[in-house]
Amino acid sequence: MSDFTGKHGLIIGVANKRSLAWAIAQSTARAGARLALTYQGRFEEHVHELSQGLASSPLVLPCDVTSDSDIDALFAKVDAEFGGLDFLVHGAAFASRDDLVGPFVNTSRDGFRLALDVSAYSLIALARGAAPLMAKRGGGSILTLTYLGSERVFPNYKVMGVAKAALEATVRYLAADVGPNNIRVNAVSAGPVKTLAAAGISGFSSILHVYPERAPLRRNVDAAEVGDAAAFLLSDAARGITGEVLMVDAGFHVTGM
Ligand code: NAP
Repeated sequence: MSDFTGKHGLIIGVANKRSLAWAIAQSTARAGARLALTYQGRFEEHVHELSQGLASSPLVLPCDVTSDSDIDALFAKVDAEFGGLDFLVHGAAFASRDDLVGPFVNTSRDGFRLALDVSAYSLIALARGAAPLMAKRGGGSILTLTYLGSERVFPNYKVMGVAKAALEATVRYLAADVGPNNIRVNAVSAGPVKTLAAAGISGFSSILHVYPERAPLRRNVDAAEVGDAAAFLLSDAARGITGEVLMVDAGFHVTGM
C-alpha cells in the first residue's frame, strides 16, 4: 500500500459515505495522510459526521468550486493549518437535470457553461491555488475523477460526457504546465458506482447492469477499489506518472461487444 505518513491532502467532493471522494479520503487517511475535506452548503453536517471516522481529525471547510473567492479562502486556510500541501483530489461534478434528460441537441447554453465550469474548469482553478502550497513541499500530486462517457456515448450522460472530455484534456495540459515544478496531474476513470451524482443520470441502473455482463472481470467496481487506485496515483509510488487517465472499471473499456 502507498504510504502517506506526514503528508497533507485536500479532498473536494465529499457529499456522503457513498462519494468516491470519501473512498479516496479513507484510503489515504488509512495510509497516514492528514486531510482537509470540503463541503458545499447543505452537506456541512454530513461531512463533519463522516470526518469523525478518520484516524486523524481533518479540517472541514466550505468551498463552492465555481467561486474564486471560496477557492482563495480555502487555500489560505489550508496553508495556515498545514504549511503547504502534498496532494489534491478533485471530485466535484454537476450538470443541470434539464440537460441530462431530453435530446442532447437541446442542451442549453447556460447548462453547458455550468456543467463545464463545475466539472472541468474548476480543476484549473484548484490547481492554480494548490501549486504555491505544493511548491513548499518540492512538488505534489493532483487527481480528478472521470468517466468513459468522455469518449463513448452512454444513456443520458450527455453534457457530462462533454465536460469529462474537457476534464481529461485539462489533465494533460495541466500536467505539461506544472510538471516542471514536480507536480503531477492524473485522473481515475471509474466504472459506474451508485452515488448521489450517479442517481442524477436517469437509466444509470441500466449502465450498472451492463458492466457485469461485458467487463472482463464480470462485475462492477466498488468505491474502495477506486479509492485505492486513486491513492496509488497520489502517492510516491506513482512518482513517474503524470497526464494519465487510469481506467478502474473492471476492464469494461477494452471490450468491443
Ligand atoms: P457525489 O458523491 O455526488 O460527489 C459529487 C460531488 O460534487 C458532491 O460532493 C457535490 O456536492 C460536488 N459538487 C457539485 N457541484 C459543486 C460545486 N459547485 N462546488 C463544490 N462541489 C460541488 O458523486 P460521485 O459519483 O462520488 O462523484 C465524484 C466524481 O466522480 C465526479 O466527478 C463524478 O463525475 C465522478 N465519477 C463518478 C462515477 C460514478 O459512477 N459514481 C463514475 C465515474 C466518475 P453537492 O452534492 O453539494 O452538489
